Amino acid sequence: MSFCTTADRESALLASYAMHSRDSRGRKYPEPEQSYRGPFQRDRDRIVHSHAFRRLAYKMQVFTGDMGDYHRSRLTHTHEVASIARTIGRALRLNEDLIEALALFHDIGHPPYGHAGEDALAECLKDHGGFSHNQNALTIAEELEIRYPSFPGLNLTYEVLEGQATRIAGGQRSEVRGQNSEVGGRQTSAGAAHHLPHTSPLLEVQVVEAADSMTYDAHDSDDAVKLGLVTLEQLAENTLIQEAVAAIRQRHGTLAPDMLRKCIVHELLARQVTDVLTAAATFLAGHEGAAVSEIRQIPFRIGPSRELAELKRELERFLYDRVYRHPRLIAVRSQAQERIRAMYRGYLAQPELIPAHHRQRIATVGIERTTADYIAGMTDRFCDAIYQQHFSS
Ligand code: MG
Repeated sequence: MSFCTTADRESALLASYAMHSRDSRGRKYPEPEQSYRGPFQRDRDRIVHSHAFRRLAYKMQVFTGDMGDYHRSRLTHTHEVASIARTIGRALRLNEDLIEALALFHDIGHPPYGHAGEDALAECLKDHGGFSHNQNALTIAEELEIRYPSFPGLNLTYEVLEGQATRIAGGQRSEVRGQNSEVGGRQTSAGAAHHLPHTSPLLEVQVVEAADSMTYDAHDSDDAVKLGLVTLEQLAENTLIQEAVAAIRQRHGTLAPDMLRKCIVHELLARQVTDVLTAAATFLAGHEGAAVSEIRQIPFRIGPSRELAELKRELERFLYDRVYRHPRLIAVRSQAQERIRAMYRGYLAQPELIPAHHRQRIATVGIERTTADYIAGMTDRFCDAIYQQHFSS
């Protein structure tokens, strides 16, 4: 039987500056490669099959599970990022398998209750190295997932781990969205440092970062209107939304509000993808034939044009003030943070409540980090249940 190998496929389809599987620096624990599946496909599958990935279904993105069934969870956000990032990567002839693995991995370290949970854990650990979801993703991939007899963690390729380390170094949360960039975003542990590149991130990593930002700007706008936190008219105070509405009106005339809201999401994504792709394709056209190492010496970053970046900042400031800081979300945020702080203190006082396989890390990383990482692995509802069971007074 003969089949198309990953190397054959990549040689035929990928640009010279794409990260080809054959050039991967491999894995910490060497494993024989498979003929039918490339190393980044294997990473993707390991991520999809991990416990941490499945738990994303029950972790909030911005809005909690009890606010309805419409809005994005951390899992559906992750799939939206992967889908958009693959679209961009394919158009630029980059490595889609690596992009998919990076995208599915990018939020795997999120604690329960989104950025509220992250901020609470960062505060708890402020004298113990801090906490960031980006760093936690590496801890999960290298230590916490126990799925293979020969090594701890998922033994992902160097390129996926390096891509995640880049997120830690960049404090990958937009300035208006991130509430704790001073506390949690700055943390770069020794564990991440050895993954850090000295050059620009791989183009595949840059594509995922750009797609993450496009995705949440579009879906947070959609979810906020659908949940009634802001009206379409209020959202349309933003230039980017106004321009989207004008483009939709030109094509479709006047639409019912529900259809208009949906079309705004399509328009926001199409506008951002087109903008980012145009700039990236123009830049890369001047570097045909360049190797990965050469392209990484150039400070160019795949991302929005200056004009779009300014419009996105305006929208993100609006989302921060009117949505992320909406009284309904502030209430959720306060309650979640109080619970997480109480659980953290409770586990420090009674470490025997921590499951044995987590507790054994106390000897190597200390009780504080062990506790925070254990709490970080919880889903929102498991966190609630454990709080009620052990720590509510
Ligand atoms: Mg994300």
